[in-house]
Amino acid sequence: MPATVARLILSIAAVLLAAALYLPVFLIIEEGGFIRNDLRALWATDVVCGAILVVTWFLVWRAEVSWTAGRIVMTSLSLIVAAIPAAAIVVAMQMLQPYSDEIAAVCGAMIWAPCWMGATALVWRETRPERAERLKMQGIGALACPTCGYSMMGLKEPRCPECGSRYTLDQLYTSQGESRV
Ligand SMILES: [Zn+2]
Repeated sequence: MPATVARLILSIAAVLLAAALYLPVFLIIEEGGFIRNDLRALWATDVVCGAILVVTWFLVWRAEVSWTAGRIVMTSLSLIVAAIPAAAIVVAMQMLQPYSDEIAAVCGAMIWAPCWMGATALVWRETRPERAERLKMQGIGALACPTCGYSMMGLKEPRCPECGSRYTLDQLYTSQGESRV
């Protein structure tokens, strides 16, 4: 199984885990006597389960992300930005009857989570130059002479300067596919 597929399965598990822990965490906080007020206990549960999701999500994907300074800042901001649509819906729900504040508190977390996960996908996605660099590092996208293997990168005509072989562009292209994939 490719590592990315394994990560996708783990990230689904991370979401389900955070959701499955919602009720147990609430019961521990409320019935355990940490916070007696139902609404406050729900907001605390949002924070705890949100933190569980953030940590597990980060652990699953961190090796796939190129951590530039910009990405670190944007990742931090995404935690807050994702709260904007969640807050908007919570406020709208509170203005409607017969929804209670408690339902809004639960829904707020349920809306924040996918917004934040989507934001991380946008922030963590590699740029075109990063992709080109990664493929170069993996040797994919490099162009070699099919006859002698000499690097033909940067040449302006499809003639190997090492062995003198000439190719059409499509011959060169398809031969790379055969040898690389
Ligand atoms: Zn050659």
